[in-house]
Amino acid sequence: MQKYTVDERGYYGDFGGAYIPEILHKCVTELETAYLRIIESETFQNDFNQLLHDYVGRPSPLYHSKQLSERYGAKIYLKREDLNHTGAHKINNTIGQILIAREMGKTRIIAETGAGQHGVATATVCALMQMPCTVYMGETDVKRQQVNVKKMEMLGATVVPVTSGNMTLKDATNDAIRDWCSNPADTHYIIGSTVGPHPYPDMVARLQSVISKEIKVQLLEKEGRDYPDYLIACVGGGSNAAGTIYEYLDNENVKIVLAEAGGKGVDSGESAATIHLGRSGILHGSKTLLMQDEDGQITEPYSISAGLDYPGIGPIHANLAITKRARVYAVNDDEALRAAFELTRNEGIIPALESAHAIAVLEKVTFDTDDIVVLTLSGRGDKDLETYFKYESHFAK
Ligand SMILES: *Cc1c(COP(=O)(O)O)cnc(C)c1O
Repeated sequence: MQKYTVDERGYYGDFGGAYIPEILHKCVTELETAYLRIIESETFQNDFNQLLHDYVGRPSPLYHSKQLSERYGAKIYLKREDLNHTGAHKINNTIGQILIAREMGKTRIIAETGAGQHGVATATVCALMQMPCTVYMGETDVKRQQVNVKKMEMLGATVVPVTSGNMTLKDATNDAIRDWCSNPADTHYIIGSTVGPHPYPDMVARLQSVISKEIKVQLLEKEGRDYPDYLIACVGGGSNAAGTIYEYLDNENVKIVLAEAGGKGVDSGESAATIHLGRSGILHGSKTLLMQDEDGQITEPYSISAGLDYPGIGPIHANLAITKRARVYAVNDDEALRAAFELTRNEGIIPALESAHAIAVLEKVTFDTDDIVVLTLSGRGDKDLETYFKYESHFAK
């Protein structure tokens, strides 16, 4: 049987590994030696579960959407990560990693952020644990995402605008790595998705796997069996998707469907559909599928959704796509917007634009009427209101 979790060398099939500068070797090895021992310890499990319960508000509900079920001809459940503290799944990972950092004796936290969601989730747990926090953010994003910058500062974090490259997420990540190289002894780098050198993709997937652990319990209670026929999630770096599928990777009864951002169309030149467009390469310490030109230069991704416009993808998902364990659809901006307005008007839930890409996939799959479908609604739409207001006259009828 195919194994879809990480191997002893830190790979998922051909993807993953730890391609890092010599100076980081010690940090990454230290983390690799520590993370499983810590995650599996009783102290960690108690602290993690208690914070997820009392601070984040878990378990997140599994909501049967009658409207989506009727419309798409299957029994469709939404896994409500949008109801978490700070409004998305990202907090599951930052809580887990700060507990690991504390256990490792680290006293300072750094992070990268694109739109600012991971930055806010990191600044939040740093306030909670009273640890100093520096967040690297491309200057372009700093200008576009003023509310999140102000939130991070209000939470006590230092936001460092990055002015290299296109001044977006890729460049912010480079600077965070540079900081980590200069401060290896006291600093933990909280990466925001299932990306980066091994052990990050595996560590983040394990921390997010609380999503699929809860789905198992909730489905058993509601349906009398602990697995669905379909799991659906959107993929930027891949953390909410990894959390959604983690417990079901080896259960071939469960079909995995992923939504990546098509932007203005896969062939438009303005897209973030990494799996459709990417070729194998190395970025931020990991071998994965990357959007790149003929010379191997990373091409700038585009999506209306800031959380999905990363030029790479987690090595887990690159492998799931190549081995055909997962089916991956590219969802364009207009399809995601339409799905967002429909969910808002018909269910009273304003989804994050990222999550709307997962909703839009329902159109593309043909279900049997008795299929049970679980779709992860990764976040709420508060951060996307300006975009929604701009397009409202187009899509809301
Ligand atoms: C950041 C974000 C994503 C994309 O990140 P993944 O690591 O792929 O999950 C998706 N949805 C929301 C709401 C986000 O904030």
